[in-house]
Amino acid sequence: MSNNDTLFQRAQLSTPGGVNSPVRAFRSVGGTPRFIQRAEGAHFWDADDKKYIDYIGSWGPAILGHAHPEVIQAVQEAAARGLSFGAPTEGEILMAEEICKLVPSIEQVRLVSSGTEATMSALRLARGATKRDKIIKFEGCYHGHADSLLVKAGSGLLTFGNPTSAGVPEDFTKHTLVLDYNNCEQLEAAFKEFGDQIACVIVEPVAGNMNLIKATPSFLETMRRLCDDFGSILIFDEVMCGFRVALGGAQSIYNITPDLTALGKVIGGGLPVAAFGGKASIMKHLAPLGGVYQAGTLSGNPVAVAAGLTTLKLIQAPDFYSHLSAQTKRLADGFNAIGQKHGLDFCADSIGGMFGIYFNSKVPTSYAEMMNSKNSAFNQFFHLMLDQGVYLAPSAFEAGFVSIAHNNDIIDDTLRLTDEALSELKK
Ligand code: PMP
Repeated sequence: MSNNDTLFQRAQLSTPGGVNSPVRAFRSVGGTPRFIQRAEGAHFWDADDKKYIDYIGSWGPAILGHAHPEVIQAVQEAAARGLSFGAPTEGEILMAEEICKLVPSIEQVRLVSSGTEATMSALRLARGATKRDKIIKFEGCYHGHADSLLVKAGSGLLTFGNPTSAGVPEDFTKHTLVLDYNNCEQLEAAFKEFGDQIACVIVEPVAGNMNLIKATPSFLETMRRLCDDFGSILIFDEVMCGFRVALGGAQSIYNITPDLTALGKVIGGGLPVAAFGGKASIMKHLAPLGGVYQAGTLSGNPVAVAAGLTTLKLIQAPDFYSHLSAQTKRLADGFNAIGQKHGLDFCADSIGGMFGIYFNSKVPTSYAEMMNSKNSAFNQFFHLMLDQGVYLAPSAFEAGFVSIAHNNDIIDDTLRLTDEALSELKK
């Protein structure tokens, strides 16, 4: 039995499913999850000392590659000064100033410890500030696991959603309207019917939780206009795409100013930092200034902030994003060429340091199109790649992540192995 198998068996005795976050369990692709012992740059090594090219990057944070020496040094120095104080530090001010500088729609920001907290708090703030209950989200977008966001579309157009998780009372989701991503007509219709009751629209402007699906500019423009017309708050959930697709996030690419933004992943550089922020006139509703309560024992933790600040500094290096985007595009273009060569419904897309691989004849633009992909072929492809030392997200519905440490050689190796995997898949 491999060390990974032994660890997985042992883990399942003390931890439900053997993992601390479900997608790590390989449930949809099958097989034994790899237990990681160390990582460096674009690679990590599992418990059997097998080396992988990593295309998850901790699900987004590792944009600099793993264990970047400057980040590690900052963390070590911060740790030596004390791990947590429960009182403010200058590092938190620096972090807030840096976020406000890089994302101009954010006038004020509050630090939290996970993306779930960021979106959950932004939602509460939007409801508190507007004194309205209803929210709009889009099917296929994931915003963390707060109760009112774990919702799938109701049956029939413009009905409120049903919980997607056991343990979420219907009462908690009855104010959540779930619409189709990239569908402007539905948005118009929803606002026509409920506009003056809608507290906020929450959206991933580049969706990365139904594989990679980009919003059309008109979709985001329509929601911006409708939110303005009806006094609703537009929340961009940039937990994944923030500082990942561009230095100013997806909002800088689409040139749309949300009222609130949720951030996470990259801003913690691998440690637990997330944030939500936006217009000061909305943020003033938060405690201790206003009536919307939100708090956290470890919020703005000094060690995590040190990792985040150093990461935010390093991603501002000249040409960082043009290089990251070019590397990611090299990968996606290569996937497309190999798919065509083999005559398979296999294609790819990318934006910044994010990519999607689809077992589809064309890049999906909606949740329905994504669901119609040949996702069982993905599972086979995943294992062929894994065996050859390429670690892709263990689900057809997740985006992939490239770091600045993924150089041409690493990308070209990946493409060579992809070519071999697709030859095998055709057999
Ligand atoms: N929003 C988005 C867009 C995400 O991708 C995620 C996590 N994948 C979250 C929120 C939740 O973040 P966390 O896992 O840090 O709670």
